[in-house]
Amino acid sequence: MLGLMQSQPLLISNIIEFAALYHGDTEVVSRRVEGDIHRTHYADVAKRARAVACALDAWGLAQSARVATLAWNGYRHFELYYGVSGSGRVLHTVNPRLHPDQMAWIVNHAEDEVLCFDMTFLPLIKAIAPKCPTVKHYVALCDASALPVDHGVPNVVAYESWIASHQAAATGYRWPTFDENLASSLCYTSGTTGNPKGVLYSHRSTLLHAMASAASDSIGVNGRDTVLPVVPMFHVNAWGLPYLLPMVGAKVVFPGPALDGKSIYELFEGERVTFSAGVPTVWQMLLGHMDANGLKLSTMKRTTIGGSACPPAMLDAFRDKYGVTVNHAWGMTEMSPLGTYGTLKVKHMEADWLTQRSVLLKQGRAVFGVDMKIVDDAGIELPRDGKAYGNLMVRGPWIIDQYFREPAKILDTEGYFHTGDVATLDPDGYMQITDRSKDVIKSGGEWISSIDIENIAMAHPAVLMAACIGLPHPKWDERPVLCVVKKPDAVPSKEELLKFYEGKIAKWQVPDDVLFVDAIPLGATGKMQKSKLREQFKDYKFA
Ligand code: AMP
Repeated sequence: MLGLMQSQPLLISNIIEFAALYHGDTEVVSRRVEGDIHRTHYADVAKRARAVACALDAWGLAQSARVATLAWNGYRHFELYYGVSGSGRVLHTVNPRLHPDQMAWIVNHAEDEVLCFDMTFLPLIKAIAPKCPTVKHYVALCDASALPVDHGVPNVVAYESWIASHQAAATGYRWPTFDENLASSLCYTSGTTGNPKGVLYSHRSTLLHAMASAASDSIGVNGRDTVLPVVPMFHVNAWGLPYLLPMVGAKVVFPGPALDGKSIYELFEGERVTFSAGVPTVWQMLLGHMDANGLKLSTMKRTTIGGSACPPAMLDAFRDKYGVTVNHAWGMTEMSPLGTYGTLKVKHMEADWLTQRSVLLKQGRAVFGVDMKIVDDAGIELPRDGKAYGNLMVRGPWIIDQYFREPAKILDTEGYFHTGDVATLDPDGYMQITDRSKDVIKSGGEWISSIDIENIAMAHPAVLMAACIGLPHPKWDERPVLCVVKKPDAVPSKEELLKFYEGKIAKWQVPDDVLFVDAIPLGATGKMQKSKLREQFKDYKFA
Protein backbone atom coordinates (compact mmCIF):
# COMPACT_ATOMS: atom_id res chain seq x y z
CA MET A 1 0.00 0.00 0.00
CA LEU A 2 1.41 3.38 -0.97
CA GLY A 3 1.20 6.40 1.28
CA LEU A 4 -1.45 8.94 0.43
CA MET A 5 0.58 12.11 0.55
CA GLN A 6 1.21 14.63 -2.22
CA SER A 7 4.10 13.98 -4.51
CA GLN A 8 5.39 17.44 -5.34
CA PRO A 9 8.66 17.38 -7.27
CA LEU A 10 11.60 18.99 -5.47
CA LEU A 11 12.58 21.77 -7.88
CA ILE A 12 15.21 24.50 -7.64
CA SER A 13 12.71 27.15 -8.78
CA ASN A 14 10.70 26.47 -5.59
CA ILE A 15 13.59 27.78 -3.49
CA ILE A 16 13.81 31.21 -5.08
CA GLU A 17 10.03 31.64 -5.19
CA PHE A 18 9.89 30.73 -1.50
CA ALA A 19 12.61 33.29 -0.73
CA ALA A 20 10.85 35.95 -2.83
CA LEU A 21 7.58 35.38 -0.98
CA TYR A 22 8.83 35.01 2.60
CA HIS A 23 12.15 36.84 2.57
CA GLY A 24 11.58 39.20 -0.36
CA ASP A 25 13.29 42.19 1.23
CA THR A 26 16.26 40.24 2.65
CA GLU A 27 19.42 41.67 1.17
CA VAL A 28 21.75 40.14 -1.37
CA VAL A 29 24.94 42.20 -1.34
CA SER A 30 27.76 41.78 -3.87
CA ARG A 31 31.21 43.21 -4.35
CA ARG A 32 31.15 43.49 -8.09
CA VAL A 33 33.85 42.96 -10.68
CA GLU A 34 33.29 46.69 -11.33
CA GLY A 35 34.70 47.26 -7.80
CA ASP A 36 31.61 48.76 -6.15
CA ILE A 37 29.15 47.24 -3.69
CA HIS A 38 25.80 46.30 -5.20
CA ARG A 39 22.61 45.72 -3.18
CA THR A 40 19.53 43.82 -4.15
CA HIS A 41 17.10 41.44 -2.40
CA TYR A 42 15.54 38.05 -2.94
CA ALA A 43 12.38 39.43 -4.59
CA ASP A 44 14.47 41.13 -7.26
CA VAL A 45 16.77 38.12 -7.71
CA ALA A 46 13.66 36.01 -8.40
CA LYS A 47 12.30 38.60 -10.83
CA ARG A 48 15.53 38.76 -12.80
CA ALA A 49 15.95 34.95 -12.70
CA ARG A 50 12.52 34.66 -14.36
CA ALA A 51 13.75 37.07 -17.05
CA VAL A 52 16.80 34.82 -17.59
CA ALA A 53 14.42 31.88 -18.06
CA CYS A 54 12.37 33.83 -20.64
CA ALA A 55 15.53 34.93 -22.45
CA LEU A 56 16.69 31.31 -22.74
CA ASP A 57 13.22 30.30 -23.98
CA ALA A 58 13.45 33.02 -26.64
CA TRP A 59 16.72 31.51 -27.88
CA GLY A 60 14.88 28.22 -28.21
CA LEU A 61 17.19 26.37 -25.84
CA ALA A 62 15.95 22.81 -25.31
CA GLN A 63 15.36 21.22 -21.94
CA SER A 64 18.70 20.06 -20.46
CA ALA A 65 20.74 22.30 -22.78
CA ARG A 66 23.94 23.34 -21.03
CA VAL A 67 24.50 26.99 -20.08
CA ALA A 68 28.01 27.62 -18.85
CA THR A 69 29.23 30.30 -16.48
CA LEU A 70 32.73 31.63 -15.96
CA ALA A 71 32.02 33.93 -13.07
CA TRP A 72 32.83 34.97 -9.51
CA ASN A 73 30.41 34.95 -6.59
CA GLY A 74 27.91 37.71 -7.29
CA TYR A 75 24.22 38.46 -7.77
CA ARG A 76 24.22 37.94 -11.55
CA HIS A 77 25.75 34.51 -11.16
CA PHE A 78 23.16 33.83 -8.44
CA GLU A 79 20.33 34.81 -10.83
CA LEU A 80 21.74 32.41 -13.42
CA TYR A 81 21.73 29.61 -10.84
CA TYR A 82 17.94 29.95 -10.72
CA GLY A 83 17.08 31.17 -14.24
CA VAL A 84 19.03 28.39 -15.92
CA SER A 85 18.20 25.41 -13.68
CA GLY A 86 14.70 26.62 -12.82
CA SER A 87 13.77 26.72 -16.49
CA GLY A 88 14.97 23.12 -16.99
CA ARG A 89 18.40 23.80 -18.46
CA VAL A 90 21.69 22.70 -16.91
CA LEU A 91 23.95 25.28 -15.27
CA HIS A 92 27.55 24.35 -16.00
CA THR A 93 29.90 26.28 -13.72
CA VAL A 94 33.39 26.35 -15.25
CA ASN A 95 36.44 26.81 -13.03
CA PRO A 96 38.38 29.83 -14.37
CA ARG A 97 41.57 28.70 -12.62
CA LEU A 98 42.09 25.88 -15.10
CA HIS A 99 44.42 26.10 -18.05
CA PRO A 100 42.52 27.60 -21.06
CA ASP A 101 42.99 24.35 -23.06
CA GLN A 102 41.41 22.37 -20.24
CA MET A 103 38.58 24.89 -20.02
CA ALA A 104 37.89 24.54 -23.74
CA TRP A 105 38.01 20.76 -23.36
CA ILE A 106 35.37 20.92 -20.64
CA VAL A 107 33.09 23.28 -22.61
CA ASN A 108 33.30 20.90 -25.59
CA HIS A 109 32.71 17.81 -23.49
CA ALA A 110 29.63 19.41 -21.92
CA GLU A 111 28.51 20.77 -25.33
CA ASP A 112 27.69 24.10 -23.77
CA GLU A 113 25.41 26.23 -25.94
CA VAL A 114 25.61 29.46 -23.98
CA LEU A 115 28.59 30.83 -22.06
CA CYS A 116 28.05 33.65 -19.56
CA PHE A 117 31.19 35.37 -18.29
CA ASP A 118 32.33 38.08 -15.92
CA MET A 119 34.29 40.84 -17.64
CA THR A 120 37.45 39.77 -15.80
CA PHE A 121 37.46 36.78 -18.13
CA LEU A 122 37.05 38.64 -21.43
CA PRO A 123 40.65 37.88 -22.58
CA LEU A 124 40.15 34.23 -21.66
CA ILE A 125 36.87 34.05 -23.58
CA LYS A 126 38.53 35.60 -26.64
CA ALA A 127 41.23 32.92 -26.44
CA ILE A 128 38.92 29.92 -26.07
CA ALA A 129 35.94 30.98 -28.23
CA PRO A 130 37.49 29.70 -31.50
CA LYS A 131 37.97 26.30 -29.82
CA CYS A 132 34.36 26.06 -28.58
CA PRO A 133 32.17 25.37 -31.62
CA THR A 134 29.09 24.30 -29.63
CA VAL A 135 28.69 27.72 -27.99
CA LYS A 136 26.10 29.69 -29.95
CA HIS A 137 25.72 32.66 -27.60
CA TYR A 138 28.01 34.52 -25.23
CA VAL A 139 26.60 36.66 -22.43
CA ALA A 140 28.86 39.29 -20.85
CA LEU A 141 27.76 39.77 -17.23
CA CYS A 142 27.65 43.58 -17.34
CA ASP A 143 25.84 46.64 -18.66
CA ALA A 144 25.99 47.21 -22.41
CA SER A 145 28.17 50.28 -21.71
CA ALA A 146 30.84 48.09 -20.06
CA LEU A 147 31.31 45.91 -23.13
CA PRO A 148 34.13 47.41 -25.22
CA VAL A 149 33.42 47.97 -28.92
CA ASP A 150 36.42 45.81 -29.86
CA HIS A 151 35.38 42.96 -27.51
CA GLY A 152 36.29 40.36 -30.14
CA VAL A 153 33.75 37.77 -28.94
CA PRO A 154 31.24 36.32 -31.44
CA ASN A 155 27.49 36.57 -30.77
CA VAL A 156 27.82 38.37 -27.50
CA VAL A 157 25.12 40.25 -25.60
CA ALA A 158 25.41 42.25 -22.40
CA TYR A 159 23.51 40.52 -19.61
CA GLU A 160 21.69 43.66 -18.45
CA SER A 161 20.22 44.43 -21.90
CA TRP A 162 19.56 40.75 -22.50
CA ILE A 163 17.37 40.32 -19.42
CA ALA A 164 15.87 43.83 -19.65
CA SER A 165 14.40 42.94 -23.03
CA HIS A 166 12.64 39.94 -21.44
CA GLN A 167 11.52 41.57 -18.21
CA ALA A 168 8.02 42.33 -19.54
CA ALA A 169 7.56 38.72 -20.71
CA ALA A 170 8.79 37.56 -17.31
CA THR A 171 5.89 39.25 -15.52
CA GLY A 172 3.50 36.43 -14.73
CA TYR A 173 6.08 33.80 -15.79
CA ARG A 174 5.39 30.38 -14.28
CA TRP A 175 8.38 28.11 -13.78
CA PRO A 176 7.96 24.81 -15.60
CA THR A 177 7.23 21.67 -13.60
CA PHE A 178 9.12 18.50 -14.44
CA ASP A 179 10.61 15.35 -12.98
CA GLU A 180 12.74 16.20 -9.94
CA ASN A 181 15.40 13.82 -11.25
CA LEU A 182 16.09 16.09 -14.21
CA ALA A 183 19.68 17.38 -14.36
CA SER A 184 20.08 20.84 -12.84
CA SER A 185 23.79 21.64 -12.79
CA LEU A 186 27.12 20.30 -13.89
CA CYS A 187 30.51 20.70 -12.30
CA TYR A 188 33.75 19.13 -13.52
CA THR A 189 36.26 17.87 -11.03
CA SER A 190 39.99 17.51 -11.59
CA GLY A 191 40.21 15.54 -8.35
CA THR A 192 40.67 12.29 -10.25
CA THR A 193 43.32 11.07 -12.64
CA GLY A 194 42.83 11.52 -16.38
CA ASN A 195 40.59 14.14 -17.95
CA PRO A 196 38.30 16.20 -15.71
CA LYS A 197 35.04 14.41 -14.98
CA GLY A 198 31.56 15.89 -14.96
CA VAL A 199 29.30 15.53 -11.93
CA LEU A 200 25.71 16.08 -13.00
CA TYR A 201 23.45 17.11 -10.12
CA SER A 202 19.66 16.81 -10.22
CA HIS A 203 16.95 19.04 -8.79
CA ARG A 204 16.17 16.33 -6.27
CA SER A 205 19.79 15.81 -5.15
CA THR A 206 20.29 19.58 -4.87
CA LEU A 207 17.20 20.16 -2.72
CA LEU A 208 17.84 17.19 -0.45
CA HIS A 209 21.43 18.36 0.01
CA ALA A 210 20.28 21.88 0.86
CA MET A 211 17.72 20.59 3.36
CA ALA A 212 20.32 18.36 5.02
CA SER A 213 22.76 21.30 5.15
CA ALA A 214 20.12 23.36 6.96
CA ALA A 215 20.06 20.98 9.95
CA SER A 216 21.49 22.59 13.06
CA ASP A 217 24.25 19.98 13.48
CA SER A 218 25.19 20.71 9.91
CA ILE A 219 25.83 24.12 8.26
CA GLY A 220 22.63 25.12 10.03
CA VAL A 221 22.37 28.80 9.11
CA ASN A 222 19.04 30.57 9.53
CA GLY A 223 17.02 33.69 8.81
CA ARG A 224 18.99 35.72 11.38
CA ASP A 225 22.34 34.99 9.76
CA THR A 226 24.35 37.05 7.33
CA VAL A 227 26.45 34.69 5.28
CA LEU A 228 29.48 35.36 3.13
CA PRO A 229 30.20 32.39 0.85
CA VAL A 230 33.93 32.55 0.22
CA VAL A 231 33.89 29.17 -1.47
CA PRO A 232 33.47 29.88 -5.19
CA MET A 233 30.23 29.34 -7.06
CA PHE A 234 32.32 27.56 -9.72
CA HIS A 235 33.39 24.90 -7.21
CA VAL A 236 30.65 22.41 -6.24
CA ASN A 237 27.99 25.12 -6.35
CA ALA A 238 29.72 26.99 -3.51
CA TRP A 239 29.07 23.98 -1.26
CA GLY A 240 25.35 24.38 -1.98
CA LEU A 241 25.10 27.76 -0.19
CA PRO A 242 23.32 29.51 -3.11
CA TYR A 243 20.47 27.02 -2.54
CA LEU A 244 20.61 26.84 1.25
CA LEU A 245 20.68 30.60 1.91
CA PRO A 246 17.44 31.56 0.13
CA MET A 247 15.84 28.42 1.56
CA VAL A 248 16.40 29.74 5.10
CA GLY A 249 16.20 33.43 4.23
CA ALA A 250 19.72 34.38 5.30
CA LYS A 251 21.21 37.66 4.11
CA VAL A 252 23.91 36.94 1.52
CA VAL A 253 27.16 38.79 0.93
CA PHE A 254 28.99 37.79 -2.26
CA PRO A 255 32.70 38.70 -2.25
CA GLY A 256 33.25 38.83 -6.05
CA PRO A 257 36.85 38.36 -7.14
CA ALA A 258 38.44 39.97 -4.05
CA LEU A 259 39.34 37.12 -1.70
CA ASP A 260 42.35 38.72 0.01
CA GLY A 261 42.28 39.18 3.79
CA LYS A 262 41.63 42.94 3.67
CA SER A 263 38.66 42.71 1.27
CA ILE A 264 37.05 39.83 3.15
CA TYR A 265 37.56 41.59 6.49
CA GLU A 266 35.94 44.79 5.17
CA LEU A 267 32.87 42.85 4.08
CA PHE A 268 32.70 40.87 7.32
CA GLU A 269 32.63 44.04 9.37
CA GLY A 270 30.78 46.32 6.95
CA GLU A 271 27.93 43.89 6.34
CA ARG A 272 27.88 42.39 9.87
CA VAL A 273 28.57 38.86 8.62
CA THR A 274 27.83 36.08 11.15
CA PHE A 275 28.79 32.96 9.19
CA SER A 276 31.16 32.05 6.39
CA ALA A 277 32.60 28.99 4.69
CA GLY A 278 35.78 28.35 2.75
CA VAL A 279 39.07 26.50 2.38
CA PRO A 280 41.96 27.00 4.87
CA THR A 281 44.03 29.11 2.45
CA VAL A 282 41.48 31.93 2.47
CA TRP A 283 41.25 31.89 6.26
CA GLN A 284 45.02 31.97 6.44
CA MET A 285 44.98 35.23 4.47
CA LEU A 286 42.24 36.69 6.68
CA LEU A 287 43.98 35.70 9.92
CA GLY A 288 47.26 37.14 8.60
CA HIS A 289 45.57 40.46 7.79
CA MET A 290 43.82 40.73 11.15
CA ASP A 291 46.95 39.78 13.03
CA ALA A 292 49.14 42.27 11.19
CA ASN A 293 46.68 45.11 11.78
CA GLY A 294 45.47 44.29 15.29
CA LEU A 295 41.87 43.83 14.12
CA LYS A 296 38.95 42.03 15.79
CA LEU A 297 35.75 40.50 14.45
CA SER A 298 32.63 42.08 15.93
CA THR A 299 29.75 40.04 14.44
CA MET A 300 31.27 36.83 13.09
CA LYS A 301 30.19 33.79 15.13
CA ARG A 302 30.95 30.67 13.17
CA THR A 303 32.81 29.44 10.14
CA THR A 304 32.94 26.15 8.29
CA ILE A 305 36.35 25.04 7.10
CA GLY A 306 36.67 22.27 4.56
CA GLY A 307 38.13 21.37 1.21
CA SER A 308 41.42 20.52 2.98
CA ALA A 309 42.15 19.59 6.57
CA CYS A 310 41.71 22.46 9.02
CA PRO A 311 45.11 23.08 10.68
CA PRO A 312 44.84 22.94 14.51
CA ALA A 313 46.45 26.39 14.82
CA MET A 314 43.66 27.84 12.68
CA LEU A 315 40.93 26.43 14.90
CA ASP A 316 42.79 27.82 17.94
CA ALA A 317 43.33 31.27 16.43
CA PHE A 318 39.67 31.66 15.49
CA ARG A 319 38.51 30.53 18.92
CA ASP A 320 41.06 32.13 21.21
CA LYS A 321 41.76 35.43 19.45
CA TYR A 322 38.49 36.14 17.66
CA GLY A 323 35.79 34.18 19.52
CA VAL A 324 34.72 32.36 16.34
CA THR A 325 33.60 28.72 16.38
CA VAL A 326 35.16 26.61 13.65
CA ASN A 327 33.30 23.58 12.33
CA HIS A 328 35.31 21.22 10.23
CA ALA A 329 33.51 19.69 7.24
CA TRP A 330 34.45 17.18 4.61
CA GLY A 331 32.97 16.37 1.25
CA MET A 332 33.68 16.35 -2.44
CA THR A 333 32.33 17.50 -5.80
CA GLU A 334 30.89 14.01 -6.28
CA MET A 335 28.92 14.48 -3.03
CA SER A 336 27.32 17.90 -3.72
CA PRO A 337 29.62 18.23 -1.53
CA LEU A 338 28.57 17.67 2.08
CA GLY A 339 29.48 14.34 3.68
CA THR A 340 30.49 15.05 7.27
CA TYR A 341 30.21 17.98 9.65
CA GLY A 342 32.11 18.41 12.91
CA THR A 343 30.08 19.20 16.00
CA LEU A 344 30.17 17.86 19.55
CA LYS A 345 27.70 15.45 21.21
CA VAL A 346 26.06 15.69 24.64
CA LYS A 347 28.73 13.39 26.05
CA HIS A 348 31.45 15.88 25.10
CA MET A 349 29.84 18.90 26.69
CA GLU A 350 31.39 18.41 30.12
CA ALA A 351 34.78 17.41 28.72
CA ASP A 352 37.75 19.77 28.89
CA TRP A 353 38.69 21.87 25.89
CA LEU A 354 41.56 19.65 24.79
CA THR A 355 39.22 16.66 24.54
CA GLN A 356 36.62 18.71 22.68
CA ARG A 357 39.33 20.11 20.42
CA SER A 358 40.54 16.64 19.46
CA VAL A 359 36.97 15.74 18.43
CA LEU A 360 36.50 18.98 16.46
CA LEU A 361 39.76 18.50 14.58
CA LYS A 362 38.45 15.29 13.02
CA GLN A 363 36.50 15.79 9.80
CA GLY A 364 33.14 15.29 11.51
CA ARG A 365 30.21 12.88 11.59
CA ALA A 366 28.10 11.79 8.62
CA VAL A 367 25.20 14.11 7.86
CA PHE A 368 21.90 12.20 7.88
CA GLY A 369 21.48 10.80 4.36
CA VAL A 370 25.15 9.89 3.90
CA ASP A 371 26.21 6.28 4.58
CA MET A 372 29.94 5.76 5.12
CA LYS A 373 32.23 2.79 5.55
CA ILE A 374 35.96 2.13 5.39
CA VAL A 375 37.27 -0.90 3.52
CA ASP A 376 40.62 -2.56 2.82
CA ASP A 377 41.99 -2.97 -0.70
CA ALA A 378 39.95 -6.15 -1.16
CA GLY A 379 36.75 -4.27 -0.29
CA ILE A 380 36.35 -5.88 3.14
CA GLU A 381 34.82 -3.53 5.69
CA LEU A 382 37.16 -2.44 8.50
CA PRO A 383 36.21 -1.82 12.14
CA ARG A 384 34.91 1.55 13.30
CA ASP A 385 37.39 1.73 16.14
CA GLY A 386 39.15 5.00 15.36
CA LYS A 387 42.37 3.07 14.69
CA ALA A 388 41.90 0.97 11.55
CA TYR A 389 42.23 3.06 8.44
CA GLY A 390 41.07 2.24 4.96
CA ASN A 391 39.43 3.47 1.76
CA LEU A 392 36.52 5.73 2.57
CA MET A 393 33.33 4.76 0.73
CA VAL A 394 30.07 6.75 0.64
CA ARG A 395 26.48 6.32 -0.50
CA GLY A 396 23.44 8.58 -0.47
CA PRO A 397 20.84 10.54 -2.44
CA TRP A 398 23.17 13.47 -3.25
CA ILE A 399 26.16 11.29 -4.12
CA ILE A 400 27.27 10.48 -7.65
CA ASP A 401 26.04 7.37 -9.45
CA GLN A 402 27.99 7.86 -12.67
CA TYR A 403 30.15 10.60 -14.23
CA PHE A 404 28.66 12.59 -17.10
CA ARG A 405 29.19 10.75 -20.39
CA GLU A 406 31.34 8.10 -18.68
CA PRO A 407 29.28 4.92 -18.69
CA ALA A 408 31.76 3.00 -16.51
CA LYS A 409 30.31 1.74 -13.23
CA ILE A 410 31.98 3.48 -10.32
CA LEU A 411 30.11 2.02 -7.35
CA ASP A 412 30.85 -1.15 -5.39
CA THR A 413 28.33 -3.99 -5.13
CA GLU A 414 26.58 -2.24 -2.23
CA GLY A 415 26.29 1.01 -4.16
CA TYR A 416 29.13 2.84 -2.40
CA PHE A 417 31.36 5.37 -4.17
CA HIS A 418 35.12 5.20 -3.63
CA THR A 419 36.18 8.67 -2.42
CA GLY A 420 39.94 8.25 -2.93
CA ASP A 421 40.41 9.37 0.69
CA VAL A 422 41.85 7.12 3.38
CA ALA A 423 40.25 7.51 6.79
CA THR A 424 39.42 6.15 10.23
CA LEU A 425 35.91 6.01 11.68
CA ASP A 426 35.58 6.01 15.45
CA PRO A 427 32.83 4.36 17.53
CA ASP A 428 31.05 7.75 17.84
CA GLY A 429 30.97 8.06 14.04
CA TYR A 430 33.66 10.75 13.71
CA MET A 431 35.69 10.35 10.55
CA GLN A 432 39.31 11.39 10.23
CA ILE A 433 41.18 11.62 6.95
CA THR A 434 44.64 10.09 7.29
CA ASP A 435 45.81 10.04 3.66
CA ARG A 436 44.67 10.18 0.06
CA SER A 437 44.88 7.25 -2.36
CA LYS A 438 44.07 9.35 -5.44
CA ASP A 439 47.09 10.67 -7.29
CA VAL A 440 46.28 14.35 -7.03
CA ILE A 441 47.53 17.29 -4.98
CA LYS A 442 45.28 19.99 -3.54
CA SER A 443 46.72 23.48 -3.47
CA GLY A 444 44.61 26.33 -2.13
CA GLY A 445 41.47 24.27 -2.76
CA GLU A 446 42.37 23.50 -6.40
CA TRP A 447 43.56 20.22 -7.82
CA ILE A 448 46.87 19.46 -9.49
CA SER A 449 47.30 16.11 -11.22
CA SER A 450 50.63 14.63 -10.17
CA ILE A 451 50.46 12.34 -13.20
CA ASP A 452 50.29 15.32 -15.58
CA ILE A 453 53.29 16.86 -13.83
CA GLU A 454 55.23 13.59 -14.05
CA ASN A 455 54.37 13.03 -17.72
CA ILE A 456 55.72 16.44 -18.64
CA ALA A 457 58.90 15.84 -16.60
CA MET A 458 59.39 12.46 -18.29
CA ALA A 459 59.37 14.21 -21.68
CA HIS A 460 62.51 16.12 -20.66
CA PRO A 461 65.61 14.50 -22.16
CA ALA A 462 67.55 14.57 -18.88
CA VAL A 463 64.89 12.86 -16.73
CA LEU A 464 65.00 9.12 -16.11
CA MET A 465 62.17 8.93 -13.60
CA ALA A 466 59.90 11.49 -11.95
CA ALA A 467 57.43 11.43 -9.08
CA CYS A 468 55.36 14.40 -8.01
CA ILE A 469 54.28 14.56 -4.38
CA GLY A 470 52.31 17.08 -2.34
CA LEU A 471 54.04 18.42 0.75
CA PRO A 472 52.40 20.47 3.53
CA HIS A 473 52.59 24.21 2.86
CA PRO A 474 51.73 26.94 5.40
CA LYS A 475 49.69 29.05 2.95
CA TRP A 476 48.42 26.68 0.24
CA ASP A 477 47.87 23.59 2.45
CA GLU A 478 49.85 21.52 -0.01
CA ARG A 479 52.22 22.32 -2.89
CA PRO A 480 53.67 20.00 -5.54
CA VAL A 481 57.34 19.06 -5.40
CA LEU A 482 58.97 17.04 -8.16
CA CYS A 483 61.36 14.21 -7.24
CA VAL A 484 63.65 13.40 -10.14
CA VAL A 485 66.13 10.65 -10.95
CA LYS A 486 68.50 12.06 -13.58
CA LYS A 487 69.62 10.09 -16.62
CA PRO A 488 73.25 8.93 -16.32
CA ASP A 489 75.58 11.79 -17.25
CA ALA A 490 72.73 14.29 -17.49
CA VAL A 491 73.04 17.44 -15.38
CA PRO A 492 69.68 19.22 -15.52
CA SER A 493 69.22 22.15 -13.17
CA LYS A 494 66.11 22.75 -11.11
CA GLU A 495 65.48 26.00 -13.03
CA GLU A 496 65.74 24.23 -16.39
CA LEU A 497 63.22 21.57 -15.34
CA LEU A 498 60.76 24.10 -13.96
CA LYS A 499 61.04 26.23 -17.12
CA PHE A 500 60.08 23.13 -19.09
CA TYR A 501 56.52 23.48 -17.68
CA GLU A 502 55.99 26.95 -19.15
CA GLY A 503 52.91 27.08 -21.38
CA LYS A 504 52.12 23.40 -20.75
CA ILE A 505 50.06 23.79 -17.57
CA ALA A 506 48.65 26.69 -15.54
CA LYS A 507 51.42 28.59 -13.71
CA TRP A 508 50.07 27.75 -10.24
CA GLN A 509 50.27 24.03 -11.09
CA VAL A 510 54.04 24.13 -11.72
CA PRO A 511 55.94 22.40 -8.87
CA ASP A 512 57.56 24.67 -6.29
CA ASP A 513 60.77 22.70 -6.19
CA VAL A 514 62.74 19.87 -7.76
CA LEU A 515 64.47 17.37 -5.50
CA PHE A 516 67.08 15.17 -7.14
CA VAL A 517 67.01 11.64 -5.70
CA ASP A 518 69.01 8.47 -6.44
CA ALA A 519 65.92 6.30 -6.76
CA ILE A 520 62.16 6.40 -6.44
CA PRO A 521 60.78 3.66 -4.15
CA LEU A 522 58.70 1.12 -6.05
CA GLY A 523 56.13 -1.37 -4.75
CA ALA A 524 55.84 -5.05 -5.72
CA THR A 525 53.81 -4.22 -8.82
CA GLY A 526 56.30 -1.56 -9.93
CA LYS A 527 54.04 1.32 -8.80
CA MET A 528 55.79 4.33 -7.33
CA GLN A 529 55.39 4.42 -3.56
CA LYS A 530 54.73 8.07 -3.03
CA SER A 531 53.83 7.61 0.61
CA LYS A 532 57.48 6.62 1.18
CA LEU A 533 58.68 9.76 -0.63
CA ARG A 534 56.29 11.90 1.41
CA GLU A 535 57.70 10.30 4.55
CA GLN A 536 61.28 10.87 3.35
CA PHE A 537 60.61 14.59 2.82
CA LYS A 538 58.23 15.16 5.69
CA ASP A 539 60.51 17.78 7.25
CA TYR A 540 60.95 19.66 3.98
CA LYS A 541 60.47 23.43 4.33
CA PHE A 542 59.34 25.60 1.44
CA ALA A 543 61.56 28.63 0.79
P1 AMP B 1 36.67 18.59 -4.28
O1 AMP B 1 35.91 17.59 -5.04
O2 AMP B 1 37.55 19.44 -5.14
O3 AMP B 1 35.79 19.40 -3.41
O4 AMP B 1 37.67 17.84 -3.32
C1 AMP B 1 37.27 16.83 -2.46
C2 AMP B 1 38.47 16.27 -1.75
O5 AMP B 1 39.08 17.30 -0.96
C3 AMP B 1 38.18 15.17 -0.78
O6 AMP B 1 38.05 13.92 -1.41
C4 AMP B 1 39.41 15.25 0.12
O7 AMP B 1 40.53 14.64 -0.49
C5 AMP B 1 39.66 16.74 0.20
N1 AMP B 1 38.98 17.30 1.37
C6 AMP B 1 37.78 17.93 1.43
N2 AMP B 1 37.50 18.34 2.68
C7 AMP B 1 38.54 17.95 3.45
C8 AMP B 1 38.83 18.05 4.85
N3 AMP B 1 38.02 18.67 5.71
N4 AMP B 1 39.99 17.50 5.29
C9 AMP B 1 40.84 16.88 4.43
N5 AMP B 1 40.62 16.77 3.11
C10 AMP B 1 39.48 17.27 2.62
